[in-house]
Amino acid sequence: MARRRQIYEGKAKILYEGPEPGTLIQYFKDDATAFNAQKRGTISGKGVINNRISEHIFTALQTIGVPTHFIRRINMREQLIRQVEIIPIEVVVRNVAAGSLSKRLGIEEGTQLPRTIIEYYYKDDALGDPMIADEHIACFGWATQEEMNDIADMAIRVNDFLSGMFAAIGIRLIDFKLEFGRVWDGDYARVILADEISPDGCRLWDMKTNQKLDKDRFRQDLGGVEEAYQEVARRLGLLQPEDESAVLDFDSHRKKRGR
Ligand code: UDP
Repeated sequence: MARRRQIYEGKAKILYEGPEPGTLIQYFKDDATAFNAQKRGTISGKGVINNRISEHIFTALQTIGVPTHFIRRINMREQLIRQVEIIPIEVVVRNVAAGSLSKRLGIEEGTQLPRTIIEYYYKDDALGDPMIADEHIACFGWATQEEMNDIADMAIRVNDFLSGMFAAIGIRLIDFKLEFGRVWDGDYARVILADEISPDGCRLWDMKTNQKLDKDRFRQDLGGVEEAYQEVARRLGLLQPEDESAVLDFDSHRKKRGR
C-alpha cells in the first residue's frame, strides 16, 4: 500500500492527506505528554480508545446540531475528518476547580464552581500555551468577535451535553479542552469543532469515589492509566472485554505491514 503523505505530527496524533480534497486522516498514537511536553511516555492502547471515544462523542454532538470535523472512523486508530484552518486557541471549560485553576488561584481541587467558566489559551508550545483574554484574540486577529460568540455558544452546548452523558455513567465532568477550526464555503467561513474529545483532554472523576479516570493519572504518576481510559470506554459501552486483546492484535498486524 502506498504511504500517505503526512501533513502534520502532533504530540498524540498524526494527520495524513485524506482520500479527497478537503479531507484528512487523523491517526491516534499511544504517545502521551504533559507539562508542555516536559514529561513524555506511552499509554498502551490509548490511541485505539481515544479514537473510539472521540468518534462516539463527535457523532452524538452532530446529532444535537454541533458541527464537527468528524466524518467517519476508518479503523481502530484512524478517522476521516474535514480539513479545517485551526483557530490557534485552546478553549477550556470548567465546572469544578482543578489543575491550573486550583494552582493559580488557590482554590481547592474538587470545589464546585458557582458557574461554568470558559478560558482561552493561545496555542503556542514555545510560549507554553499562555492564558489569554478576549481582548488579545480580537487585537491579534486570531478569530473575529462573531467567531468567538459561536465558539462560546458551542462550548456551552458541548459542556451541557457531555455533563449529562458522563453523569449517566457515574462520571463527573470536571473540565475539558476544545479546539475549533474554520471551513470555507466560497467567501463565507464557518467555525466547527475539531481535534478530539477524550480522557487526554478532559478531567473525569468517578462520582462515588472521586477516582480520576483521565490523563491526570499519567501526569501525577498515579498508576492504572490504561485501565482508567478503558474504564471510560467500557462505561460508554464502547469496549467489550474481548476488545482489549483485539487492540494488541491490530497493532501487531500493522507492524507486520510496516505501518
Ligand atoms: N488541557 C488539554 N491540553 C492542554 C492543556 C489543558 O487538553 O494543553 C485540558 C486538561 O486535560 C484539563 C483542562 O484542559 O482537562 C484544563 O487544564 P488546566 O488548565 O487545568 O491545565 P493542566 O492542569 O492540565 O496543566
